[in-house]
Amino acid sequence: MNEFDLIRDYFTWTIKDPSVILAVGDDAAIFSLEHGYELVTTTDTLVEGVHFSATTSAKDIAHKSLAVNLSDIAAMGAKAKYFTLALSMPKIDQSWLQDFSDSLKHLSEQYVVSLIGGDTTRGPLNITITMIGVIEKSKALTRSGARPGDGVYVSGTIGDAGLCFWKLSNDLIPSNQELQRLNCPTPRVELGLLLKDLASACIDISDGLEQDLSHILKASSVGAVIEVEKIPISEALLGHIKDSNDWSIPLCGGDDYELCFTIPEDNEEALKKLSKSCNVKITKVGVINESLGLQIEGFDGQRNSYQHF
Ligand code: ADP
Ligand code: MG
Repeated sequence: MNEFDLIRDYFTWTIKDPSVILAVGDDAAIFSLEHGYELVTTTDTLVEGVHFSATTSAKDIAHKSLAVNLSDIAAMGAKAKYFTLALSMPKIDQSWLQDFSDSLKHLSEQYVVSLIGGDTTRGPLNITITMIGVIEKSKALTRSGARPGDGVYVSGTIGDAGLCFWKLSNDLIPSNQELQRLNCPTPRVELGLLLKDLASACIDISDGLEQDLSHILKASSVGAVIEVEKIPISEALLGHIKDSNDWSIPLCGGDDYELCFTIPEDNEEALKKLSKSCNVKITKVGVINESLGLQIEGFDGQRNSYQHF
């Protein structure tokens, strides 16, 4: 099997989106853009030994590679539409490629995103996906719109992926649900689209709530007070915190892919309805203020969110 057979067999599937004019197979892809819309694009790389281990399944690697990019587009309030896949792998392993391709196709169908191109090379296992989304002109949700008085909110529960990682690092056995949170995150796609009209700023939590919220504060030139007791956490994580009296997992653990966002007071009622309509738990954890920096009530431990270098 050569490179071209591989692309044909595993990365060419029917795309139902009529805006895709030319997908996999030419020197570059072509898609059309509706009048009044802007493009939103993001790239994330997953590297073996850094973002997943040698024992992570091809299915989970494919899922996470796509999910983390969907999460970034969702955090901008945009609609994900197209993606490219740059895949580097040490050898052609057809059973691995089939599982990877099936999982990628499955998730791409679920969120209606089209694989329109990529690159395939030999090298250490490394998956880079570039996602392209669309949004009405000037409507994107950035990190820089938070204002004093806005509420600070998070979706779902925080820290389950971090707890899973902590367990694996300490030779403990995580539950299936915890493994799911770490290896198969659910991007908050629908929520991101709905927040576009309500939120003043938004970010997805990939490197820890403390660090990611701080990015919003810095970009918006504001500060915030949050309370650890308000952070929504699972039963399992609550047990761990009671035993250790340490809130660092929900504050600094990465890989949750929940959204952290700020809501002006006037929109707080509308937000409650939105939470019901998209069936995602939403919790207020604090308030934006005029200071600079993040004050965390109930926590005096080390702020050790994930650092890439
Ligand atoms: P070129 O040499 O012109 O860059 P390639 O041989 O790398 O072309 O790729 C041929 C076609 O296959 C291109 O349309 C490219 O976008 C697509 N492609 C290559 N690798 C992948 C992949 N892993 N997934 C999807 N499409 C791919
Ligand atoms: Mg190429």
